[in-house]
Amino acid sequence: MNLILMGPPGAGKGTQAKRLEKNHGIVQLSTGDMLRAEAASGSAIGHKVKGIMDSGNLCPDELIIELIASRIEKEDGRNGFILDGFPRTPRQAEALDKMLKAKGMKIDHVIELAVDDGVLVKRITGRYTCAKCGTGYHDEFQKPAKPGVCDKCGGREFNRRADDTAETVRARLKAYHEQTAPVIAYYRKKGVMKSVDGMAAIDDVAAAVDAAVSA
Ligand code: AMP
Repeated sequence: MNLILMGPPGAGKGTQAKRLEKNHGIVQLSTGDMLRAEAASGSAIGHKVKGIMDSGNLCPDELIIELIASRIEKEDGRNGFILDGFPRTPRQAEALDKMLKAKGMKIDHVIELAVDDGVLVKRITGRYTCAKCGTGYHDEFQKPAKPGVCDKCGGREFNRRADDTAETVRARLKAYHEQTAPVIAYYRKKGVMKSVDGMAAIDDVAAAVDAAVSA
């Protein structure tokens, strides 16, 4: 089963992708994670990419398409994948169609996690993860039981994304509405699009996503 998770930044795509990965044995392919790894590697491309990400703008289509093509190549013949954060422009969506068609593969479901902008800024600016195990927390909505200590692994170091500031979030939302919203229309036209209320509790969103992919 091959899925696309759509939705604005902070909608919970990463969280739901991790659940789908665990429950359905399919792999999460996050272009944001791939780009952050490239940025952390200190390569020349990584340096350029980090500048773009920190501004809240989208990286060039050619770079992203190349990045995802080499990953999808590896997934051919396995259980399937969840695309998280890709495609983000109509051009990326068309390139994806082309590369899947060439391999005799297809997208089974596109799920949109719908969340209002007002909720997103608060969600994003308060989120952080354990540096050791990656468990997600939030300043207000999901604090660790013991302050400063990860519930899962006992780690005491936490990371915040460099682009999770209020200013960058606004630029990311603008990019989403201007460049990514048309992709939703693209999949709606193809009849593979389903929308889920991303403002419900995490478990309820997961149940709705499961129902959508099982239909
Ligand atoms: P994300 O982790 O999905 O929120 O992505 C973080 C940042 O990485 C975005 O704000 C963009 O700068 C960049 N990025 C991730 N995926 C894409 C994509 N499919 N196309 C263009 N830029 C992307």
